Amino acid sequence: MNQAVVNSEDIFHLLQRHLDSLPAGFPATESGIELRILRKLFTVAEAEIAVALQMRPEPVSKISQRLAMGPVELAPKLLEMSKKGLIFRLDKGDLTLYMAAQFVVGIWEYHVNDLDEELIRDVNEYLPQLMGKSWSQIDTMQLRVIPVAESLDSETSIMPYEAAEQIITEQTAIVVAPCICRTEQKMVGAGCDAPMDTCLIFGSASTFYKDNGLGREVSQSEALELLQAGLDAGLVLQPSNSQKPINICMCCGCCCQVLKNLKKMPHPAQMISANYYAEVNTDNCVACGDCAERCHMEAITVEGAAVVDLNRCIGCGVCVPACDYEALSIKQKDPEAQTLPPETMVKTLMQMAHERSQI
Ligand code: SF4
Ligand code: SF4
Ligand code: SF4
Repeated sequence: MNQAVVNSEDIFHLLQRHLDSLPAGFPATESGIELRILRKLFTVAEAEIAVALQMRPEPVSKISQRLAMGPVELAPKLLEMSKKGLIFRLDKGDLTLYMAAQFVVGIWEYHVNDLDEELIRDVNEYLPQLMGKSWSQIDTMQLRVIPVAESLDSETSIMPYEAAEQIITEQTAIVVAPCICRTEQKMVGAGCDAPMDTCLIFGSASTFYKDNGLGREVSQSEALELLQAGLDAGLVLQPSNSQKPINICMCCGCCCQVLKNLKKMPHPAQMISANYYAEVNTDNCVACGDCAERCHMEAITVEGAAVVDLNRCIGCGVCVPACDYEALSIKQKDPEAQTLPPETMVKTLMQMAHERSQI
């Protein structure tokens, strides 16, 4: 192997380790599938730049100090990489800042417009391993599950960050992006008929999505209409796991990379941040099975009456409106079992990084 090839191999190993050092991780596998994904997404020159970026926004001048490249030469390269969805970009006043992007949520989602079958196959092979080696080893998740409003009775009071409508009406900038999970599944002949406009992105992330052509700006009222369409389709609400969510995803158990991999695990409820669970009133249940059909987590079995497996129930509330007999309700977990999301996503990511450093 000549020196140039050795160096290009090295840089992708370095990039893998760099992405793995970010809060959500990007662990190595025995098959090396993660390297194939990186080689497909990054050129060698882009990989060399990507490893110099940190998980905090910085101006070009600061980043250039870590590279053998002046700011004038580096600036257009960073801009192009951010437009390709390899790194994150945000504007602060007159200054454009850049930071590293995690693989998920991040680089993968930023490629919703340029997927191909080979990449989809590789990422679908890799993500269960990423979840198993990284996400399942820590307590703090990037997303949490909140209950659909229709599942809550008047006595249940929820926090503002658990109410999708309130999260949306607090936003000044909202972009809707097509669901990458259903997009990629449809491209390989699978997928489902759930709506596609189901990723709502807020704040500075929404500017990045809009400027990169990954989504379109919507008003609060249109975002609320999209939310209703997602609820009508029985989708699970997954906002980012903080008291100030930066997005809400509306997800199905067949395509969503989080839910479909969670579903394969014996105890999904232990792997998700959620403060609720479903309960059956057996006196009202006629064992029709409608709730079991709706549940994305296969948490309900029906024999004489519906039974909720609390190890599998993620408290999404999707089953409740499916019941015509008022036999299902959503209950809040005991205080000691509840999780309080960090104040901001920056703190969530810091908490994840800390927990991963303890593994
Ligand atoms: S996380 Fe949910 S809404 Fe977001 S892309 Fe995946 S399935 Fe779609
Ligand atoms: S939908 Fe209602 S009545 Fe039917 S099985 Fe479920 S809980 Fe029972
Ligand atoms: S039983 Fe299923 S649909 Fe109902 S809240 Fe639990 S996970 Fe959601």
